[in-house]
Amino acid sequence: MLIKVQACGICHSDSITKEGNFPGIQYPRVPGHEVVGVIDAIGPDVARWTVGQRVGVGWNGGYCGFCDPCRRGVFFGCQIAGQITGVTYDGGYADYMIAPSSALASVPDKLSAEEAGPLMCAGLTTFNALRNSGARPGDLVAVLGLGGLGHLGVQFAAKMGFKTVAIARGIEKGALARELGAQYYIDSQAQDPAAELVKLGGARIILATVTNGQVMSATIGGLGNDGKLMVLGAAESLEVSPLLLIMGRRSVAGWYSGTSIDSQDTLAFSVLSGVRSINEVFPLDQVNDAYERMMSGRARFRVVLRTGN
Ligand SMILES: [Zn+2]
Ligand SMILES: [Zn+2]
Repeated sequence: MLIKVQACGICHSDSITKEGNFPGIQYPRVPGHEVVGVIDAIGPDVARWTVGQRVGVGWNGGYCGFCDPCRRGVFFGCQIAGQITGVTYDGGYADYMIAPSSALASVPDKLSAEEAGPLMCAGLTTFNALRNSGARPGDLVAVLGLGGLGHLGVQFAAKMGFKTVAIARGIEKGALARELGAQYYIDSQAQDPAAELVKLGGARIILATVTNGQVMSATIGGLGNDGKLMVLGAAESLEVSPLLLIMGRRSVAGWYSGTSIDSQDTLAFSVLSGVRSINEVFPLDQVNDAYERMMSGRARFRVVLRTGN
């Protein structure tokens, strides 16, 4: 599919393309896996999609549908045509890009391209982790970190009906956390997150969006019985007490963002519930400034490129 790109979010993971941290990456390579645009042309033997349709492309760059993992429904593990947008083929920091049809999500009319972009990765990752977490409405769910992923995670958790706790550094973030829907805020600089979660009854889920392993490890004691730390941030290492895991049947698990249909569900739920990321928008020709802004950690909260299309 040839896609006329309208907007593309900038994700921290784009650094693996820019810095060459992906094994075997080949250059030149265009980053960008929070892509939204319209279908400009369709290749042969593609069913269902039409020219002019609004679509998005996320991290999962497509799958074959017939290898063993695909036949088991584990499409992200595809062994034949598994691709990563903006890493194994060119992504969305561009006016046009080409993607396999299996990578496409349909974008609802009620979302602008800038709104939909960050939902294709940051939104998908938090939404899909939470809806597959095993937590039920009313359960205590903590979101660790209040950055690009965390500010979406808090909104999704609240809208899914979880008793939502935000954990971040500094008392000043409490007001924002509550605006986003959190019932409770824990300032990890002044309070012990694990102890505070225990006081609240223990978390069913802690959604770890930070990349600091020590910060993650310090929350594990706040898990209740059958509680689960879901790791979304690529920390270097974690420390966990096996006894703590055994005694409360607690677990630590990673979560892969999702495939195109999960992105489509994320967009639909965002329309339904009003969840949106807070974005700083840059024109495509200022991509270097936009990228630096994202990497600086000072962006509030996602950075999105806008093409003239
Ligand atoms: Zn991403
Ligand atoms: Zn496959």
